[in-house]
Amino acid sequence: MKCDICKAKAEYTFLKKPLGTYIGSGKARKFVCTKCQKTNSQEELTTKLTK
Ligand SMILES: [Zn+2]
Repeated sequence: MKCDICKAKAEYTFLKKPLGTYIGSGKARKFVCTKCQKTNSQEELTTKLTK
């Protein structure tokens, strides 16, 4: 799993859950790592991912 903003490889919790969040749904679903989540607002993330 890679972050769709910074393209960094996602880190995983011990439960194998990627550290970050998903934006969108279905095939258009994007992954955003915690770092990008912190440095971007929800609005900025949506804008960057839909470009
Ligand atoms: Zn990222």
